[in-house]
Parts: sequence; structure tokens; C-alpha cells
Amino acid sequence: MKLYNTLSHKVEEFTPANPNEVKIYTCGPTVYSFAHIGNLTAYTYWDLLIRVLRLNGWKEKRVLNITDVGHLTSDADDGEDKMEKGARREGKTVWEVAQMYMDDFMNNFHKLGLIDPYAVCRATDFIEEDKKIVEALDEAGYLYDTTDGLYFDTSKFPKYAEFAHLDLENLRAGARVEFSDEKRNPSDFAVWKWIRDGEDHAMKWEFRGRMGYPGWHLECSTIIHEKLNETIDIHCGGIDHIPVHHTNEIAQTEGAFGKKMANFWLHNNFITVEGQKISKSLGNVYYLSDLEERGFSPIDYKMWLYQGHYQAERDFSFEQLGAAHARLMNYRNFAVLRWQGVETSDFAEARAEIVELLNSNLNSAGAFAAIDGVAKSGLAPSDDFLKFLDGAFGLEIAATTPDISDELKAKIAERVEAKAAKNYAEADKLRDEILDQGIELLDSANGVRWQYKG
Ligand code: AMP
Ligand code: ZN
Repeated sequence: MKLYNTLSHKVEEFTPANPNEVKIYTCGPTVYSFAHIGNLTAYTYWDLLIRVLRLNGWKEKRVLNITDVGHLTSDADDGEDKMEKGARREGKTVWEVAQMYMDDFMNNFHKLGLIDPYAVCRATDFIEEDKKIVEALDEAGYLYDTTDGLYFDTSKFPKYAEFAHLDLENLRAGARVEFSDEKRNPSDFAVWKWIRDGEDHAMKWEFRGRMGYPGWHLECSTIIHEKLNETIDIHCGGIDHIPVHHTNEIAQTEGAFGKKMANFWLHNNFITVEGQKISKSLGNVYYLSDLEERGFSPIDYKMWLYQGHYQAERDFSFEQLGAAHARLMNYRNFAVLRWQGVETSDFAEARAEIVELLNSNLNSAGAFAAIDGVAKSGLAPSDDFLKFLDGAFGLEIAATTPDISDELKAKIAERVEAKAAKNYAEADKLRDEILDQGIELLDSANGVRWQYKG
């Protein structure tokens, strides 16, 4: 299996350290608002990754975190805590807000048919463990205290600029005068924030005799250490995480434990909507529920994503979603051919080709071209081939194709008879009734075929 590794900037052969426990970590959502279709991109693409690992016979151990503390509106160390912002907007407590958006996120996760992780971990459940890393970093001499918090001195971590190819000199030159001149380097970041006199913070914990809370990046280092133990096989996130969040995670983990954090780093690109960045002010923020209101299913959205590549910037539109839906319906209609007396095939060659394409850095778009090919072969897919497709993509090609009811089958047979008897009025009436139930009849050279209405 080959994957693009942000660490080396190359497509590399991936081999897990332990095939029975491929350790994967994906940075999860900050639960202060509903996840829009852009936010859901990452989890949908990483689900494909997990399915392809399974195709290779490996078993994943995947951890997903839920950020419910410490993520400030700026992604750096200033601005309001996103959770507090959410709480103020909703007139609820931060804890209620976290629960509500976490439930909504998991609901979306399941609507998309994504495989449940081994563990879903909330940042606030790991505060004691966070403190241990702060202590370890302090002991190793990486931290300095400021009125704002305990900061990581990035000049003490020589590799700091490596991962994201940061230009630290430039960063220094461009640095604005920030909250304090206490910060030694512009790239230094808070590992632990203090609640300053006259300030308050809804989520706070006692540490070294004062109240405070963890910096945003700390949770990932902590949760990985506790649940997976570094070095992990694959760490995933969005491309926006590369220069700050992941760079800081690496500094913390490697600074505290002296071990490489992850062998592979995978990053997904962003989607735009109708040519523009997703933003409230442009009114182009869509949620899965908006897609559903327009008659699409979450699986159609997944299909649209997999028609492209996780590393490519993609532009979403309802027209494109419609095209993805039509293609998916075509696959489902291919699947139901096996109930219509059509000869079946395991499509061994296509199957091998699909596996190879997916193993080439998750080339699902290429794999779909191979499926298009067999879908027009005139043969029906065997149950085994469909099981393979559904395992590989999670597009519910066979699984959600409900076997049509006996009543409907009888009606189809009646219509065939009516037509054979040249009783056209009766045949048309039956055809319309069948169509009302979502099944379209096609008269082909090989007899009557039926398919799901698009
Ligand atoms: P935010 O709530 O805006 O901080 O978004 C949370 C995460 O969702 C970001 O860190 C990104 O990795 C991801 N994300 C946000 N917008 C998009 C988008 N348009 N396409 C793909 N991923 C996105
Ligand atoms: Zn993270």
C-alpha cells in the first residue's frame, strides 16, 4: 500500500509496525457548533483509509479525539475559547454545548456509515494525564512560565521548523506585537494556560496551586500517549493542521517522550462550495441535513467525495452531488441485476485492479472507473463481489438495496404476463403502480428488467 506522507513529502510504501494493530489517530472536531459538510470531509476520507487497510488484511486501532476545551478562536493562543463562544451563543453551559455538538457529530458520523473508532476520547477526560506531560516537558527544560501560561520554547526543539518547512526568520520578522513580550519566539505556544487575575474560564483545573486549562495541542499528544502509545503508524488531519497544530503536537510528544510521534502523516485538503470558501457570510454553509432536505442521502455525499482525491481541493455543488447520486444509483441498479436471472460474475480482474488503485494512495476515483466498466459488462455482480465493494467503499451498494417485497415481485410478474397477453391497459396500470413504489421497469432484449428509480 502506498500513501503520501507529509513527513517526507513523498508517496511511500506503508507497512504497519504491527499488522494486527495499525495505530491510527485522527484529530477530531471542536464541539462548539454543528459540523458542516467541509468539516465532515476528513472523517469520510479517513474511513476509506481504514477500509483499505482492512482490504490489505490489517486490523486498525483507531482513536479519535473530541476537542471540548482549550481551542481558541485564533488557532493560536489568543482569542476566546471556542467552547465559551458556543455557550454564550446558545445560552447553555460549556458542558451542555459540548455534549450537544458531540452527539450531533457522532450522529453525522453514523449517517455517513463510517466505521466506529476503537476509542473516541474527550479532551476534558485527560486533564490529569495532560499535567504529566506538562511536568515532563518542564523537567526536560522546554517550558517557561508567563502570565498567560506555560509556554513551549520552540528554539529548544531544533527540528521545530522541519515538519511544516516553516521559515522561522520570516515568522519572527512578521510577528505582530502580541499579548506579551514574554513570549520568546513567535512560534512558541501555550502548553498550559493560566487564568489571569480578573479573568475567568468556564472549564478550569487546579495545577501547581493555580487554576488553568490545557493548551489546544496538548490533548492530542496526551490521548495518543495514553490510548495508543507512540510511535503510531498514521496520524491524520486537515492541511490547516500542518503549520501549527501538528507541528506543536510533534514538539510536545517528542520533547516529552523522546520518541517519534508518527511514521506517516496524512492530510486532507479543503472543499469549497460553488467556487467559494465555506463561510457564514456567504451563506454557503451546508450541513448533511441540508443535503437530505434536498433529497440526497449522506452516502451520496460520500460518493461525491470519493469521486475525487483527499489531497485535492474540491468544489462542491448540488449539480455535482446530483451526478454522484446518479452514478451511485447506477451501481445499485447493477447490484440488483443478480435478482433478475442475469448471469453473475466475481469480476476477479476488476477486483484486483480496484485493490491496486486503492492501494495507490487511495485512488477511489480511478477505482470507480473500473466499477463503471463492470457495471456495463452485461453480467451481474456476485454477492461476493458486492461484499467486496461495500467493504472497500462503504457506499451501501448491495447492503441498502432492499430485496423488493414478494408483493412487488408478484406485481412485476403480473405485468410481464399482461404484456405478453397484449393486455396493454392492464400492463401500463401495473407499470405505474410499480413505479410509484420506486421501481422502474425496462423492456430489454433479454426480457423485462427493473431498476431503482434515480
Ligand atoms: P473549524 O471548526 O472551522 O475550526 O474546522 C474544524 C476543522 O474542519 C478544520 O481544522 C479543518 O481541518 C476542517 N475543515 C474546515 N473547513 C473545511 C473545508 N471547507 N473542507 C475540509 N475541511 C474543513
Ligand atoms: Zn490533533
